[in-house]
Amino acid sequence: MKNDKITLAHGSGGKLTHELVKQLFLPRFNNKALSQLGDSAILPIHGMRIAFTTDSYVVKPLFFPGGDIGRLAVNGTINDLAVVGAEPMFLSAGFIIEEGFELALLEKVVNSMKEAATLASVEIVTGDTKVVEKGSVDRLYVNTCGIGIVNNGINLSTSLIEIGDRIIISGTIGDHGMAVLSERESLGFNSQITSDCAPLFGTIKKILASGAHVKFMRDPTRGGLATTLNEIVNTQKNGIVIEEQAIPVNEGVRALCEILGYDPLYIANEGKVVIVVSAHDAAKVCEILKEDSLGRDAAIIGEVVIEPKGKVCLKTVIGGTRVIDMLVGDQLPRIC
Ligand code: MG
Repeated sequence: MKNDKITLAHGSGGKLTHELVKQLFLPRFNNKALSQLGDSAILPIHGMRIAFTTDSYVVKPLFFPGGDIGRLAVNGTINDLAVVGAEPMFLSAGFIIEEGFELALLEKVVNSMKEAATLASVEIVTGDTKVVEKGSVDRLYVNTCGIGIVNNGINLSTSLIEIGDRIIISGTIGDHGMAVLSERESLGFNSQITSDCAPLFGTIKKILASGAHVKFMRDPTRGGLATTLNEIVNTQKNGIVIEEQAIPVNEGVRALCEILGYDPLYIANEGKVVIVVSAHDAAKVCEILKEDSLGRDAAIIGEVVIEPKGKVCLKTVIGGTRVIDMLVGDQLPRIC
């Protein structure tokens, strides 16, 4: 490996994270389920397909407009199950707590987790508590694992993607990342920008039940929409073209990104899904989303194309075209 020490960029979800996974973890743990690099592993057990996933949450600050680390830890893991077509059922919760952390705040986080789990009809059935000396961690980290079941008839894979398939985003991009950043930096934009942190299973269930020919889904969290689209084209010979004008962005997010020099395409989301669907069913899926409270701003933003292979291109508002790479470096550490 080029860099002999771990940097914040290794945790960005972008290029260095992918390098770490492909060069260190994947060759050593090598197995069929892991090599898919899905949001959840899908495991065939006694004739059923079990989806299994894990995620650690280190967001700073712990509380932000629209959520907190507890809500994030439940919804984030639920969404990683939902996007592989699984019905989320059970979660674990592991807490790493810094000595001196206020018990009242821990209670607030746990209440939040309970509320989010109830809302999504999942149960937190096992857990772990560790406390480390003051200064060894920054207040509180939470890990959750999730188990769900993939029902028969659901088949999602990047290998099903064909030229002409449409790309849909279920709503505005960048809300979560910019909400956390504005709270962290006390920028005073708080009233305008709220995290989109939400459980997507109910919404996704409606789409899958519609019979629409959905090929693949992923939640564009760390690294944003741009990184997720690159992950999709990385696995195949096709490319993706998206239209800047079609991508929904809240005004507050757009303004804050402009001021601070961020591109909303790379900013994390916590309640959005990217859907690759056949051209024939794209409008139908978009309609279903628009009728759902979590998909009101859904839009068809692009399509799968022959050229350029393995790349994502953006048609800009002013008529140009540019290649959109995966997130390089780390724009916003500890966003989730
Ligand atoms: Mg995910």
